[in-house]
Amino acid sequence: MPNLSTNTPTAELQAADAAHHMHPFTHAAGLAKKGARIITRAEGVWLNDSEGHRILDGMAGLWCVNVGYGRETLVEAAAKQMRELPFYNTFFQTSHVPAIALAERLAQLAPGDLNHVFYSCSGSEANDTNLRLVRTYWAEKGQPDKQWIISRWNAYHGSSVGSGSLGGMKGIHAQGGMPIPGIAYIDQPNWWSEGGDLSPEEFGLERARQLEAKILELGPENVAAFIAEPVQGAGGVIVPPDTYWPEIQRIVDQYGILLIADEVICGFGRTGNWFGSQTMGIRPDIMTVAKGLSSGYQPIGGSILSDKVAEVIGNCEFNHGYTYSGHPVACAVALENLRILDDEGIVTRVREETGPYLKEKFESLTEHPLVGEAKIVGMMGSIALTPDKASRAAFEAEAGTVGYITRERCFANNLIMRHVGDRMIISPPLVISKDEIDELIKRAWQSLDEAHVKLKDEGLMKAAVRN
Ligand code: PMP
Repeated sequence: MPNLSTNTPTAELQAADAAHHMHPFTHAAGLAKKGARIITRAEGVWLNDSEGHRILDGMAGLWCVNVGYGRETLVEAAAKQMRELPFYNTFFQTSHVPAIALAERLAQLAPGDLNHVFYSCSGSEANDTNLRLVRTYWAEKGQPDKQWIISRWNAYHGSSVGSGSLGGMKGIHAQGGMPIPGIAYIDQPNWWSEGGDLSPEEFGLERARQLEAKILELGPENVAAFIAEPVQGAGGVIVPPDTYWPEIQRIVDQYGILLIADEVICGFGRTGNWFGSQTMGIRPDIMTVAKGLSSGYQPIGGSILSDKVAEVIGNCEFNHGYTYSGHPVACAVALENLRILDDEGIVTRVREETGPYLKEKFESLTEHPLVGEAKIVGMMGSIALTPDKASRAAFEAEAGTVGYITRERCFANNLIMRHVGDRMIISPPLVISKDEIDELIKRAWQSLDEAHVKLKDEGLMKAAVRN
């Protein structure tokens, strides 16, 4: 029986990892050849690996560690709750204090009349819940044909069968008999790659009006809801043009379609407000939350419903739930996490101080020869890599080749920056300081320089032919 610990040599851990641990979204054989990087500890915005490197986490784990690593009071909240009541279900007419207190707090924080929380353990589960919620809502209102849900290509809403179908990622759809029926997709508001000769403002309207066209094609009497991230995250941090969301709001209002805002990344301060819906000025009927809700210290997600939706759902028995819906330890940790975000003024600081500072520095990356546009809202940002800025050209090499090379340089320079295709993205812990922002930008610039040299050496700075 192996006795693995953080003192075990890296190669041994990597071998055991490759032999027994299947990683999400990973080509296992490829990873087995090079070995996973083993993360051992973390503090603030810094990770340590088993080789003694100190790595700047520009992704907050997986867009989630909003209050940073090493928060003792979150540890205490979990331990206290585990001693008092480690688990009890909320299915059979029972409740407990952490689930109640967190729901009340979320109702206070959420905008408008979003006052009712249905818990899950992840963003995927919460979106599966939403899929059934919106269809049940219309059936209960006597309009059982209102079942279609409209989403967007390149949206990410999770990878379970329901949420992966709600998302518009073709790679996910290609495996396992997806998407399920009854979901339609419109194009994303990605001006850099798809805007052609339109101005960003014209393009934002054009993409929003695809929703109206799709509703009319399906028939408004058959459409239940539109789901979208206020700012697409996993799709490459696509910040929509200013004209986009007001037009979407007009359309869902006009045709009586429910709006689901997937706040899994945008929620809890990421965009400089408590929720991305506030930053984008929209009024969702349901919000999906997870990730930053507990800063990733515990797995927890949820759907926050408006009074209107909750009232209808409340009049039937909704045959849905998860063993760990409203898990007391996860709720206690989330509650403490919200207290930290509030008491330390973290959301306000992102909006007024560190967010604007990061924006200025991040946008300066466009001075690099490899970088076309830089887009950032609060603390989620992306840069588009390009062989030719003026024409907003894509690379001739297969999409993602250049992004991967650049990501490898970041990794080598102890900066976690992810690539989505040929966009490089950041989403650091919200507590990142100005000095740490300077360090992030310095390492990003150096990695871009190194990637640029490699691309030139390998003849990869060629533009794709536009079609
Ligand atoms: N929605 C969005 C917008 C997300 O970014 C994610 C995860 N990246 C999910 C849903 C799925 O969340 P989870 O991985 O917790 O299932």
